[in-house]
Amino acid sequence: MLLLEAGRDVPPGSEGAAILDTYPSRAAFDPNNHWPDLKVQTASHLHNRPDAAPYKTYEQARLIGGGSSINGQIANRGTPADYDEWEMLGARGWNWQNVLPYFCRLETDLDYAGPMHGRSGPIPIHRIPREQWPEFSHASARAFNELGFSDIGDMNGRFGDGYAALTLSNNGSHRVSAAMAYLSPETRSRPNLAILTRAQALSLLCDGRLITGVRISREGREKDLIGRQVIVSAGAIHSPALLMRSGIGPAADLRKREIEIMADLPGVGANLQEHPGVSLSAFIRPGLG
Ligand SMILES: Cc1cc2nc3c(=O)[nH]c(=O)nc-3n(C[C@H](O)[C@H](O)[C@H](O)COP(=O)(O)OP(=O)(O)OC[C@H]3O[C@@H](n4cnc5c(N)ncnc54)[C@H](O)[C@@H]3O)c2cc1C
Repeated sequence: MLLLEAGRDVPPGSEGAAILDTYPSRAAFDPNNHWPDLKVQTASHLHNRPDAAPYKTYEQARLIGGGSSINGQIANRGTPADYDEWEMLGARGWNWQNVLPYFCRLETDLDYAGPMHGRSGPIPIHRIPREQWPEFSHASARAFNELGFSDIGDMNGRFGDGYAALTLSNNGSHRVSAAMAYLSPETRSRPNLAILTRAQALSLLCDGRLITGVRISREGREKDLIGRQVIVSAGAIHSPALLMRSGIGPAADLRKREIEIMADLPGVGANLQEHPGVSLSAFIRPGLG
């Protein structure tokens, strides 16, 4: 098996303080960890600067482990109703009962046990315990209580309204990325695994409608690699881009760019959605943090 990654490798033990930090922002906003010049156009415009360029910088990770090496480490599963709705909308097999075993398999929940949680997976799941909350969080909890909300504790197992400490993919001391969890020294030493970093997949190779490999660019040179099975796992932006460069996507868009059509699939590259979120920040008096 060959694992291709466009960004750099970060072998075990060389992650460095920023990636390991349980405070994620240093790694998240370091441009060295991003795809350069990635811009997106969103539906919303700045209300106070309607003439501003509609393209915005979009941070997407480009290093081994992808987003898990730089993200906020917030490890929310989503609610059962979300997955059941996916299946209802046509994503066959993606209902809650089907995805739950995979959530359990990937984690060791350090706080909660039972049928909703894994105890032996490679990613530790951790919540900051109440006794370590700063006074600001205690004050917020008191305010929520007064409004009738209670501490639901386990956001990955109880899905009603309420508040809780964030569910984090770290062990309380440091981040555990997908690369740290799944590409351990033992895994990396397997004779049937090779990892090629700084290698960008340009397009899929095909013979008729059969995918036979991938064209890559590395160190300024292009190369064709042949494979029996090719798995595209390049993230929400680059997976559809790679498919479309390979002729898999909406025929009209491909024709406009003079790409030979292999499969007319209108959904590819469409309907990208960000998750909604409201983040409140406050200056707090010294001593309350
Ligand atoms: C700053 C930031 C903060 C985030 N915070 C959170 C959070 O707190 N909680 C949460 O749940 N989610 C968070 N996310 C989102 C989360 O990290 C992603 O949803 C997740 O990493 C997606 O995984 P993926 O494997 O689909 O893609 P990615 O993690 O993007 O991995 C794709 C990998 O493929 C590589 N690649 C792409 N194209 C090619 C190519 N052509 N050739 C070779 N390699 C290629 C990329 O370099 C990357 O390493 C955050 C994301 C960012 C960027």
